[in-house]
Amino acid sequence: MARFAEPFKIKMVEPLTMISREEREKALERAGYNPFLLRGEEVYIDLLTDSGTSAMSDNQWAGMMLGDESYAGSRNYYHLCDTVQQITGYQHVIPMHQGRGAEKVLFPLLIQKGQYVLSNWHFDTTRAHVDLAGGIAVDLVTEQAYDTTMPYPFKGNFDTEKLRHAIAEKGTENIAFILITVTNNSAGGQPVSMENIREVSSIAKQNGIRVFFDAARYAENAYFIKKREQGYEHKDIVDIVREMFSYGEGFTMSAKKDGLVNIGGLLAFKEDEALFTQARSMTVPMEGFPTYGGLTGRDMEALARGLREGVDEQYLAYRIGQIEYLGSRLEEGGIPFQTPTGGHAVFVDAKKMLPHIPAAQFPAQVLANELYIEAGIRGVEIGSFLLGRDAATGEQLESKLELLRLTIPRRVYTNNHMDVIADALIAIKDRASTLAGLEFTYEPPILRHFTARLRPIKTEVPSR
Ligand SMILES: *Cc1c(COP(=O)(O)O)cnc(C)c1O
Repeated sequence: MARFAEPFKIKMVEPLTMISREEREKALERAGYNPFLLRGEEVYIDLLTDSGTSAMSDNQWAGMMLGDESYAGSRNYYHLCDTVQQITGYQHVIPMHQGRGAEKVLFPLLIQKGQYVLSNWHFDTTRAHVDLAGGIAVDLVTEQAYDTTMPYPFKGNFDTEKLRHAIAEKGTENIAFILITVTNNSAGGQPVSMENIREVSSIAKQNGIRVFFDAARYAENAYFIKKREQGYEHKDIVDIVREMFSYGEGFTMSAKKDGLVNIGGLLAFKEDEALFTQARSMTVPMEGFPTYGGLTGRDMEALARGLREGVDEQYLAYRIGQIEYLGSRLEEGGIPFQTPTGGHAVFVDAKKMLPHIPAAQFPAQVLANELYIEAGIRGVEIGSFLLGRDAATGEQLESKLELLRLTIPRRVYTNNHMDVIADALIAIKDRASTLAGLEFTYEPPILRHFTARLRPIKTEVPSR
């Protein structure tokens, strides 16, 4: 791979500290073997999430000084609207405090009790807001997403056969809308192709169903289309973004990802004025007056500038290149992961790396803990520990994939950090067979992965 360097230089630094291995062992025990319960300061390289963890540019920080904190009609709101219109082609824009704010406002306007929402994959808060609005979330991702070794370029795609089947089975009147998540976070930051988006939109049209986007990583998705899909290699990122959004009527967006800000979100509509008006009035009691929607003027200015930087092709080449670089180091070291690498993270296949640990003992959580002990790196489990129990029977569900997500914050770490991460996993590989599974000491009833406490299961380890 050609060597590339970060397309920025560093103006301000945030020191990192690495506590000793002994201290890390103590910290992890205190955290109940759940890295969510570690303190940030106990972590050396934090790969828990790419959400709200981006480094802002000097241009964004300069914009923060130009915040117009007018309650109504802030200048920064108009700048934000113009920017969203230019990048996405959508006319009607409402700022939100983050992505879930947009979900909370929009979904009750679209969902009638008992209706289905069909998606390639619902993000967790998205699913929760479908539930809260009385709907039923159905995921229809391509089967290729479940095979981590198969190098399929668009593992975020809908399985359009499954989609047609679901529509026929449920009946169009029972479907609230179709939601296209770009990129597909839960499948590994995997992109959705333009061809797939086009086909989903045409199926929707034939059936009179509306299409919306969950657009948190829309710019990364557009970059993948440019790199991987025929006919797009010479197009500008913004043109790809505009074509993508032309197939839907609106989007919810967490601006904490490709928006390159630490807080913020958006709700936007292509042209549906009636829905926009309804959403604006619901925004008032939920988020705030519709020209600020839970954000300060300075937040909106940082977001307007961040959106532009987020569609810059040089930036995206660096961004996606860094994830690829980490993937290539892991590949050299024989670490199994979701291939090809996606947009915001590398997903290590813990089922393959720790085949001796059954799903109910959470192999990816074991790996997350070991990575913390090895090098102070905090990743996050995406597997059976996250999935939880069957609501009816209380039985532990078995996830199709047991993944350790190494989520890379934007513009925060250098490739030296990527090397440290790869070296740590490679070191763990040699002792993987000696690692023990986990059991609960405390299991909360809902969203357990955030606060649950665990301990390693004591077993006789054969000496070598
Ligand atoms: C982060 C995210 C959300 C929720 O956004 P918040 O800003 O965290 O509220 C929704 N959908 C996807 C795909 C996301 O990645």
